[in-house]
Amino acid sequence: MTAPYEVLNVAATWTGTTALGPGRRSVVWVQGCPFHCRGCMSPDWIPMRRARLVAPADLVPELLGDPAVGGLTFSGGEPMFQAAGLAELARLARTVRDISVICFTGHRLEALRSRPPAPGVARLLEEVDVLIDGLYVAGLDDGRGLRGSSNQRVHHLTDRLTSYGYDFDSRPRSADIAVDGQNALLIGVPPTGLIAAFDAAVDSVRARTTLWKDNHER
Ligand code: SF4
Repeated sequence: MTAPYEVLNVAATWTGTTALGPGRRSVVWVQGCPFHCRGCMSPDWIPMRRARLVAPADLVPELLGDPAVGGLTFSGGEPMFQAAGLAELARLARTVRDISVICFTGHRLEALRSRPPAPGVARLLEEVDVLIDGLYVAGLDDGRGLRGSSNQRVHHLTDRLTSYGYDFDSRPRSADIAVDGQNALLIGVPPTGLIAAFDAAVDSVRARTTLWKDNHER
């Protein structure tokens, strides 16, 4: 039986993107974050509320359904808050395919090791190849790299991705936008100005959809 803390509370998933790390990857954004960084790109995923509860074993086929996917990226929300479940997810995924794992966290690596904030942090760190740590600071967002702001650090915890030629710190950013009905998902660390444009586009689509419904459902 799965331990309760190994059931993940997931805000969103995406299968197959090139915007969140080297190669083609699948992404898990967890729900809930104890931090409240000003300018956080995912404010809806900060509240500690119930979202999609799913066992790690049930996520594996979804995330690895695309045979070209060679890695997982964990973001949020705060992944370390659900470390046990994500560690189990990474472990199970590696029984299917030799994947790499990237994880974002607002905690510093030293603090994770000395004062783990949740069960399973040590296990998750054993599964992670690249950890991007530290809080997002809007004033230090230089629009570069796979970290939101320049105070965040990239730790290669294994050498799996060191020879990949992927510049985590200063590569040009890219992002995918996925639209599903009235919902839209921004995938990636957004280049400067993209969040404002994204929010405006989503508001516009929702307003048009509401107007269309008002006109056709009377
Ligand atoms: S740690 Fe990340 S998810 Fe949490 S508030 Fe800061 S930017 Fe947002």
